[in-house]
Amino acid sequence: MHLPRLLSLSAVAGVLALLLTSFNSQAQGEQQLALIQLPLPPLATPSQAPTLEQVESTPAAQTAKQVQARKGDVLETVLKRAGVDVNTIYALAQADRQKLLTRFRPGDDFAVTFDDAGRPIEIMRHLNRTTRIVAQQERGRWQIRKVSLPVDIHIASATGTISDSLYLSGKRAGLSDKIIMNLADLYQWDIDFARQLRPGDTFKVLYEQRYLNGELIGDGRIIAAEIHTSGKTYRAFLLTDKQNETIGYYDEKGRNLRKAFMRNPVDHVRITSRFTRKRWHPIHKKWKAHRGVDYGGKTGTPVRATGNGKVIFKGWKGGYGRVVFLQHGRKYTTVYAHLSRFGRIKQGGYVKQGQVIGYIGSTGWATGPHLHYEFRINGHHVDPLTVRFPDAGPMPKAYRAQFKQRAQHLLAALKRLDADTQLAANFE
Ligand SMILES: [Zn+2]
Repeated sequence: MHLPRLLSLSAVAGVLALLLTSFNSQAQGEQQLALIQLPLPPLATPSQAPTLEQVESTPAAQTAKQVQARKGDVLETVLKRAGVDVNTIYALAQADRQKLLTRFRPGDDFAVTFDDAGRPIEIMRHLNRTTRIVAQQERGRWQIRKVSLPVDIHIASATGTISDSLYLSGKRAGLSDKIIMNLADLYQWDIDFARQLRPGDTFKVLYEQRYLNGELIGDGRIIAAEIHTSGKTYRAFLLTDKQNETIGYYDEKGRNLRKAFMRNPVDHVRITSRFTRKRWHPIHKKWKAHRGVDYGGKTGTPVRATGNGKVIFKGWKGGYGRVVFLQHGRKYTTVYAHLSRFGRIKQGGYVKQGQVIGYIGSTGWATGPHLHYEFRINGHHVDPLTVRFPDAGPMPKAYRAQFKQRAQHLLAALKRLDADTQLAANFE
């Protein structure tokens, strides 16, 4: 999804700090939610691109026609239905190198605007609530581009105490599924949410909420977060570039939360066999070391690359069955065995951390569907559940000073949440 550009980082942090000094918690039932209005972000379009105002300022003398794409439609059939002539459709198809107009789904809405002579002058496809594809004629040629509507970003906050799971406690604090999932994602390297959290642990979140014409259309990114568990406080602050695109999350000391490897290659898993020096092998009927971790799961469960790497083997190998070997830098190799099928990967190609490389199966020597996962350092097998992973990479130097300032503001904002919560409690 295309996110709108915001003000520069320091401006956002500054405004945020200013506004936080005067914000009130709004008691919404059990929720502790507060909204801080940030100035309207500028429209995220290059200067030569049409702004929404231009797009929507079609003079009244012109006529417009709306059509909806049906099953089996191609660009030609949809536009013909809207009354567009064949020559224009041909010119559009030629100009649409990125297939912005051409690639659509049944149900997509098209709007065609005609001039008073009945010639099409603009074709628009609605992508979602905030994005459109717009084709307009410029100097006799069709220009097709994506146009984003100006989305208003507000900062919301929530605090809560864990009484059961992060999910249920997050819901009670008024957080959406998306923010709770993002929170769990963010801390996946530091906190084992299934085993580590205890009743009484606390969390705080500052996050974006996206508004279109004054209406809440959904949550954006987490800006800052804090989880207190096992006597430790884990903080995360969002770092963005000048275009407000996410660079990553770092703690108050500027350390990357992301590690070079994810702990588990499958989501929501059941570990059925751990790394051991020796164990009884049910197929070979003898004691053997288990040099990996087994994850039980249904056939077809996606298996993800735990780190960025190169596919050094994709194929069938004896007891491993259908297996993928990934090489990460010089030192590290990961192995994913017994797959039912492969993801969209090529031997010799590169994969990203989290990318689906295959699906759980029971190929090779497997008693039932499961993933056998190995982690090797310089060829030696280590336990992937306990090994310390290297950081994914330090913060880019150019951002360090800026981040330090921003993190201070956000840290103050998180601390301020305590005071507000306390204040609200005092008045209950
Ligand atoms: Zn195994």
